[in-house]
Amino acid sequence: MAEEKKFSVIIVGAGPVGLTAAHALSKAGIDFTILEKRETVEEDIGATIILMPHGLRVLFQLGLEETLREEGSEFQNAAFQTIADAKVTKYTFFPRAKLISLLYNSLPGSHRSRILTNKKVSSIITNPDSSSDISNRVTVTCSDGTSYSSTIIIGADGIHSQVRQAMYSEPSPFKANYRILWFSIPRPDSIPSTSGFEAHGKDFLSQCLNTKEESFMIVYQRIPSHLKPPITKHVVYTEKDIEDLAKECGSTPLGESGLTLKDVWHQKLRPAGMANLEEGVLKKWSCGKGKIVLVGDAAHKITPNQGLGLNDGIMDVVGLVNELRKVKDGEEEGELQEAFNRYQNIREGWAIRDMQTSGFSLELGSWKKGWLVWRVLTGLMGIPGVEGFLLGRMYNELFAASGLVLEGEGCEREEGEFFEGRVKWVYSIPRGEGKGGDE
Ligand SMILES: Cc1cc2nc3c(=O)[nH]c(=O)nc-3n(C[C@H](O)[C@H](O)[C@H](O)COP(=O)(O)OP(=O)(O)OC[C@H]3O[C@@H](n4cnc5c(N)ncnc54)[C@H](O)[C@@H]3O)c2cc1C
Repeated sequence: MAEEKKFSVIIVGAGPVGLTAAHALSKAGIDFTILEKRETVEEDIGATIILMPHGLRVLFQLGLEETLREEGSEFQNAAFQTIADAKVTKYTFFPRAKLISLLYNSLPGSHRSRILTNKKVSSIITNPDSSSDISNRVTVTCSDGTSYSSTIIIGADGIHSQVRQAMYSEPSPFKANYRILWFSIPRPDSIPSTSGFEAHGKDFLSQCLNTKEESFMIVYQRIPSHLKPPITKHVVYTEKDIEDLAKECGSTPLGESGLTLKDVWHQKLRPAGMANLEEGVLKKWSCGKGKIVLVGDAAHKITPNQGLGLNDGIMDVVGLVNELRKVKDGEEEGELQEAFNRYQNIREGWAIRDMQTSGFSLELGSWKKGWLVWRVLTGLMGIPGVEGFLLGRMYNELFAASGLVLEGEGCEREEGEFFEGRVKWVYSIPRGEGKGGDE
C-alpha cells in the first residue's frame, strides 16, 4: 500500500533530548514517532541534572513552567557558585529520571502514544527503492524486525548512537581521559538542602548536589595510565569495578558535613553508575542528502562537571526545529540538507566552546593542569562578591545569555521573558501579537 508522503520525523531515542524534540515538533505541528530501545520510557536510573537558565527557559517555553518550578530544586546555597544576585535565574536540578517522567507525562496523550518502546534501531536505509512511493523517505529497521519510514531521522540516541554509526564507518570519534562514579543517598541532616559542593585533588574531583530529599554524588577520576587513556572504545564497568573505585575514593568528603563517601556508600538509593567520560564534537552532524541529522550526546559529548551537556542538547533541538519550520514539505531539492547545515552552523561553535571549557575546568579542578590558576581562583572565590561575579554573572554571560529560543507560531508569550536579571538575554522570547513586543 502506498504510504502517505506527509512530512514526518522519526526520533531515535526517548532520552531527555529526544523527548524535548517531541515537545518542540508537536508545537511546530510536525508529525513525529519516537523509537526507544528500552522497555519503558520512565526508569529510575541515572544522574542528577542541572538545568541552566537557557535550557530551563526553553522547557518553560514548551509549557512546562509550572511542573518544573514545582518539581525542581533550585540551588540556594552552593559552595562553588553564588547565584543570589548576579543571575538570570537560579540553576535548577532534577534527578534525570524525574526530568524524563516530567517530559514524557506532559506530552498530550495522543503524542505520548507515538513513543514506541522495545524498538532498538539496528539499521537505516536512506533510499530504499527509487521506483517505490517511499523513495523520498528514509527507513529504519529495529532488532525485532519491524520497519518505519519518515521524511527525516533525528538521531537522539546518545553517546553510542546507532544513527551516528549509520552515518560514519569510522570508530567513535570521542575520546575519554576521565571516568566517573555516581550515586544517590537520602540527604543526611548535616548537609543543607538545595546546596552544592565540590572537592578537588590530584587526578580527582567530586561534586555533591543536594535536593530536599536526596544527596547526589559524582566522583571524577583521571583514567589511570595503565588503562592507556585516551580511550575510544565503549567500556562497560562491572559491579566489581564500581566497588573498587568506591573503595579507592572512600575518603571523598560530602560537603562540609564531616561525612565521607565510605560512611554513606551502604545507603545508596539505587545502584551506583560508572562510565568513561567521552569528549568530542562531530565534524558532520547530518548526512543522506537531508535525511539524517543528530542532536544531543550523539553529536557532541561534553564532560558533565559544568552541567552543560543536556543544556546543549536542548539548544540543538531549538536550532534544528527553528530551521525545520522554515522548510515546507522537504520536497524541494536540497532544502532539508541546507536546513541541517544552517542548524550545524548555529550550534557547532557553541558545542565546541562548551566541550573545551568543561574539559579544561575538569583538568583544572583535578590538578592535571593549571594548578596555580586553580589556587588563585579558589583564593579569589573566598573574597565576598567575587564568587558571585565569576560564577554567577560571568558564567551566565558566557554560557546562558546567548541561549536560543523557539521561534514561530505558538512560541510567543504575552508577558515576554521568563527570567530577567542583570545579565540580559541576547535572543528574546517572541511576544504575542499586539502585546508590545520589541519593535
Ligand atoms: C553523571 C552525569 C551527570 C550529568 N549532569 C549533567 C548536568 O548537570 N547538566 C547537563 O546539562 N547535563 C548533564 N549530564 C549530561 C546529560 O545527562 C546528557 O547530555 C544527556 O542525557 C544527553 O541526552 P540525550 O537524550 O542526547 O542522550 P541519552 O540521555 O543518552 O539518551 C539516549 C536515548 O536513546 C536510547 N537509544 C540508544 N540507542 C538506541 C537505539 N539503537 N534505538 C533506540 N533507542 C536508542 C537510549 O535508551 C536513551 O533513552 C550529565 C551526565 C552524567 C553521566
